[in-house]
Amino acid sequence: KDAVPPLPIVIVGHVDHGKSTLIGRLLHETGSLADGKLDELKGQSDRRRVDFEWSFVMDALQIERDQGITLDTTRIWLKTRKRPYVIIDAPGHKEFLRNMVTGAASADAAVLVVDAVQGLSEQTRRHAYLLSLLGVAQVVVAVNKMDRLDWAEAGFRATAEAVSGYLAGIGIEPLAVVPLSAREGDNLVRTSANLPWWQGPTLTEALDQVTPRPQPVDLPLRFPVQDVYRDGDRRILVGRIETGRLRVGDRVRFQPTGREASVAGFETWRGSTPIAAGAGQSVALTLDDDLFVERGHVAGHPGAAQHIGSRIAVRLFWLDRDPLAAGDRVTVRLGTASYGAVVDKVVRVIDVASLGTTGTEQVAGGDVAEVILRSHGAMAFDTFADNPLTGRGVLVRGHRVAGGFVIEGAAAASPNVT
Ligand code: GDP
Repeated sequence: KDAVPPLPIVIVGHVDHGKSTLIGRLLHETGSLADGKLDELKGQSDRRRVDFEWSFVMDALQIERDQGITLDTTRIWLKTRKRPYVIIDAPGHKEFLRNMVTGAASADAAVLVVDAVQGLSEQTRRHAYLLSLLGVAQVVVAVNKMDRLDWAEAGFRATAEAVSGYLAGIGIEPLAVVPLSAREGDNLVRTSANLPWWQGPTLTEALDQVTPRPQPVDLPLRFPVQDVYRDGDRRILVGRIETGRLRVGDRVRFQPTGREASVAGFETWRGSTPIAAGAGQSVALTLDDDLFVERGHVAGHPGAAQHIGSRIAVRLFWLDRDPLAAGDRVTVRLGTASYGAVVDKVVRVIDVASLGTTGTEQVAGGDVAEVILRSHGAMAFDTFADNPLTGRGVLVRGHRVAGGFVIEGAAAASPNVT
């Protein structure tokens, strides 16, 4: 029988509302900490003459990550009775946002941590908005620090209603809103005697209700070409299959050129000759026709290939300090493709607090905006709704990744812009 794949989740929320504490305590409560780890950390805090904090567990994991040079995100594993989880995290808040926005981190579900006393903050709204923007619609709200409210139901209800109200406005209906105390360990895995009025699930019971997203291999084929090598008069195409499956003999169409050929075979270095490959695999392949193909072209099956167009409407999360405005030159990176482009129009900058429009002039760092991007040549793209893996990209300005976006669709030419 196949092993259950781990469900990737993110934990977000206002700084100090208790994310690190929650992760540390959750690892302990689910029995996911290595033997002796907790004693070791408690010993360390004794020596440093400081009170033990559950967030030290996270710090310890963070240090392990720093020593392992290649990873830019921390992957923390835990297990409930139902299945394994992997928590995707990054050392700092900025890095975390960057990873989320640029697609380095992708989660099926999220825990939104909200301090029961502080309630819904600006940053809570921002993070929740980001989740909806990135299509992470399965959210469990953890109303944390219930001990500081003396476990009072009325206080919980007030925070829960404020958070649910905001989430409803951005199209998220939480799987559950759960009262808990990360520090004390109440209602994370086991029900709590301090919360006799609570009839709902514990945090892990709520997480176990998450439905995994479709596996990338079940989406239509997307093979972005990374490099093309010449071997005599043969061309060998190299890249990673992002979604779907590819077999020898398959007819493929390369976008944005629209040229078609059939897959002649996969090249290998060890003599074995596979006849099929799927999402996540890096492959080298040859075609039955000497087509012009270059880095950035994306193969799909004819009839289900990518869209092409020179104007796309995107939802942008701008990370750069310097603002972005209509007319600005940028590089649009979609998979392995880079397109020279210009900001055609800022449709609206969204105020994540009120969900209203704050303007159309410029997009400041940290803003979310609806923007139309126009490239010089045709771009090949997917919408985020169709393919969450390839329907997103990043904006580069002056060699820096300055923003991340998801693609809403093709945009018509705007008559008021030349
Ligand atoms: P983060 O910035 O969201 O990762 O927050 P931390 O996990 O570092 O927690 C911030 C502070 O809140 C720390 O001093 C924690 O001890 C405290 N804290 C976290 N969870 C609880 C809780 O359930 N109850 C109480 N009273 N304090 C908590």
